[in-house]
Amino acid sequence: MKQHQPPPLPQSQPPSLSGGGGAAAAAGVGAGAAAAAEVNAVANAISLAETAKSRPPLYPKPKTPSFDKDRDYIGFATLPEQVHRKSVKRGFEFTLMVVGESGLGKSTLINSLFLGDLYKNRTVPNVEERIEKTTRIEKKTMDIEERGVRLRLTVVDTPGFGDAINCEDSWRVCTQYIDEQFRQYFTDESGLNRRNIQDNRVHCCLYFVPPWGHSLRQMDLDLIRRLHRKVNIVLVIGKADCLNKTEVRNLKERILQDLEDNHIQLYQFPECDSDEDDDFKQQDRELKASIPFAVVGSNTILEVAGKKVRGRQYPWGVVNVEDAEHSDFIKLRTFLISTHMQDLKDTTQDVHYENFRAQCISQISQHALRERGKLKRDSISSTNGFDAAISETDRLLLQKDEEIRRMQDMLTQMQEKLKQTHLMEMKKNDSVIDV
Ligand code: GDP
Repeated sequence: MKQHQPPPLPQSQPPSLSGGGGAAAAAGVGAGAAAAAEVNAVANAISLAETAKSRPPLYPKPKTPSFDKDRDYIGFATLPEQVHRKSVKRGFEFTLMVVGESGLGKSTLINSLFLGDLYKNRTVPNVEERIEKTTRIEKKTMDIEERGVRLRLTVVDTPGFGDAINCEDSWRVCTQYIDEQFRQYFTDESGLNRRNIQDNRVHCCLYFVPPWGHSLRQMDLDLIRRLHRKVNIVLVIGKADCLNKTEVRNLKERILQDLEDNHIQLYQFPECDSDEDDDFKQQDRELKASIPFAVVGSNTILEVAGKKVRGRQYPWGVVNVEDAEHSDFIKLRTFLISTHMQDLKDTTQDVHYENFRAQCISQISQHALRERGKLKRDSISSTNGFDAAISETDRLLLQKDEEIRRMQDMLTQMQEKLKQTHLMEMKKNDSVIDV
């Protein structure tokens, strides 16, 4: 059975934030393989953070290989450790785009997910400003460190999305931004210095659907349809505490139906390998079954039954953000940070960026062909006779072509001769044996 390195630990050491990160960081970001156990454990993270420091490290430090001569193994089993050490040194980058109309709880959720305060200096526009408002792109970066692993998180926000009366073009800003990042990466990759390329490509787009309404709106479909082949879209129903369990279930079903009817494919979870352990398989099933994630966000820490929880206090009780009965917050966090972050990056590289790259290359070669044809036509029309129209370069190219053809003919003849000689030799030998 394949053993998983436990990716997340519920009571992980609090990540230290630099850059835009605030002091709100209190609990670990990681979520455990056993999702159910984790829900309670993460709720305790604040008080348990100190205890967590004494835990064994998530990835034990690899042993220094010895140089003993008599060993009966080659040593490549340490390859994963080498890769691990290199990756940890280099650090990780992840870019998350957050799209949805204002007031849906996007900033609150991002702060809750990454235990930071990315929106400290935010000003909320008034109604007049919003009527005319166009969608903008705002980038915020924070460096998070957890157990020696550094993550540079960039959140691409789209303030103004869907705010204007006419929001037909809201999607254009998002698609343009994603394409620009691909284009920049393509240019950098084709350049001479490819060592220090900064990867700003968008690895995941969290698209917020409002909890009100009966399903996806035209504007949601417009955007998703235009983005789903460019980026990994993950749908999130914001402010899910506005809905009861049945309403959440019905809304999820209708959203999925809408996506199917419109042939839209969101981020596809990779299939779980058959040799994975049962806990992991169960967690994977639960994650898949929860899509679209119905989330509740909060930046307030409340005390419930002696436990500190991230929640929302209402006159009738507390919504515990990290309680699986109340919201899919923990599932979203597990998926985004602990289990599928690398797959989101791989899919961006292998599928979305490859599509973009293939389009670029085919456009470039078509352009080159057109240019060549144009040059030829121009040179022909500038002279009278065809012979005179062939430029010096073309003449040289034709000569080289002719030379290559001649050499290929010679090669074929020589191969043919060799074959004949070989056959004759064989016949001779056969006849000798026969005698
Ligand atoms: P954004 O404009 O989409 O970034 O939304 P904000 O995160 O600024 O939240 C707007 C308002 O909704 C704030 O008053 C939040 O406290 C509140 N809010 C955020 N998340 C939730 C949630 O999950 N449920 C409820 N009921 N309110 C929320």
